[in-house]
Amino acid sequence: MIDVLIIGGGASGFFTALRLAELNPAARIVILEKTAKVLTKVRISGGGRCNVTNNSTTSTFLDNYPRGSFFLKQAFNTFNNKDTIEWFQKHGVELKTEADNRIFPESNSSETIIRLFQQLLQQYAIPLHYQHEVVSLERKESHWLVYCSNQAFFETKNIVISIGGQSSDQHYQWLQKLDLQLTPRIPSLFTFNIPNSPLKELMGCSVPSAVITLSSHKLEYTGPLLITHWGISGPAVLKLSAFGAIPLFHSQYQETVQINWLGKSFQETERILKNIQTSEHKKTVRSFSPFEEIPKRLWVHICEACLFPDWLKWAEVGKAKRQLLTDHITRYSLSMSGKTTFKEEFVTCGGLNTDFFDPDTFMHRQQDGLFATGEVLNVDGITGGFNFQACWSSANTVAIELTKRIRSYTNKVV
Ligand SMILES: Cc1cc2nc3c(=O)[nH]c(=O)nc-3n(C[C@H](O)[C@H](O)[C@H](O)COP(=O)(O)OP(=O)(O)OC[C@H]3O[C@@H](n4cnc5c(N)ncnc54)[C@H](O)[C@@H]3O)c2cc1C
Repeated sequence: MIDVLIIGGGASGFFTALRLAELNPAARIVILEKTAKVLTKVRISGGGRCNVTNNSTTSTFLDNYPRGSFFLKQAFNTFNNKDTIEWFQKHGVELKTEADNRIFPESNSSETIIRLFQQLLQQYAIPLHYQHEVVSLERKESHWLVYCSNQAFFETKNIVISIGGQSSDQHYQWLQKLDLQLTPRIPSLFTFNIPNSPLKELMGCSVPSAVITLSSHKLEYTGPLLITHWGISGPAVLKLSAFGAIPLFHSQYQETVQINWLGKSFQETERILKNIQTSEHKKTVRSFSPFEEIPKRLWVHICEACLFPDWLKWAEVGKAKRQLLTDHITRYSLSMSGKTTFKEEFVTCGGLNTDFFDPDTFMHRQQDGLFATGEVLNVDGITGGFNFQACWSSANTVAIELTKRIRSYTNKVV
């Protein structure tokens, strides 16, 4: 009989199989994949470069998970980003860290990761069945019966559900029959549409450290912000979309957002403007900005939004105008209406409720021998390699537990 049947040939399913084979070469493992392809998301990830993990410090790493950070803690203690780097390097994949801490293969190609996974799968002789969509699971005595849509049938001692995240209920129907608790699935990681704002005309403008606020939900994030032809994007927006995924879904993506273009306080910004009024009094406001972080086109737009004529000199800016300008720099208000995917990247917020899984093993608390890894769980991270790290860490924990379980019943038989 099969020891472990893994459902799903994505990042987390593959890594579970490979880590288990490394820890227990005798384990009888099978992977079932519904489509004719595996590792599809790995291939397109990171713009085809596969952002495998992030170089964030261990103490702050889990802050990057809007959902699941507490649940992942144990898994990270056992296998964190440093272990990921070591694992890939041990298997001959050189990695590089970019300025924003994202880590990619030196080759700049996700094919490097796919080739390694495929090659190891072959080396460990792990069978992989394509076009085997699991449609039903049944517990029988001490093992599981697995039914596929093509009438194939398997018996196994342990199951690992690694089917990824999707918003459609159909994807999870067979899990619901097992009484597995699912939290609602909704999108995370998207950019904000601003169809009625003239800001869109400034596409391509970016600022390095904006603060974006969703005051109705007390959410605020800092980071680079980019204006696109449909709205606003960049790390600050994506982070807000992830941490605000649930309230934004409930408001149907109709919200007022506020941007502080510099991230400086009202008082500090006003003080800088006041100094400029003395030192640069002869210059016009539009032609001279004291803030090099704000691109010229954006500065002119802000001046226009304040209804400043183009001839207005700094010397002519009184207190009311100065405060109006400060307000537009520190509390620029925008109406969000709808969302757009960021470079096709998205993750699912929601999935299998982690309260029902043991964080030390990732096994279901009531269903013996049933495990889950990766995005199918209600765990998701912000963009930057955090979602793959959750796959590697969860898969490693499952592989360790499965190794112990297989040993325990093998020893009993002996
Ligand atoms: C465009 C894009 C770019 C991304 N880039 C990055 C990045 O650079 N870094 C990062 O950290 N994250 C990135 N992500 C997120 C990351 O890709 C996912 O979080 C990760 O791939 C999830 O892996 P998984 O194994 O849990 O699920 P998946 O990769 O979704 O794999 C699940 C597999 O299960 C199969 N399956 C589903 N149902 C069944 C069934 N019933 N029977 C059998 N098989 C089934 C599916 O066909 C699929 O092959 C990106 C996501 C997207 C969409």
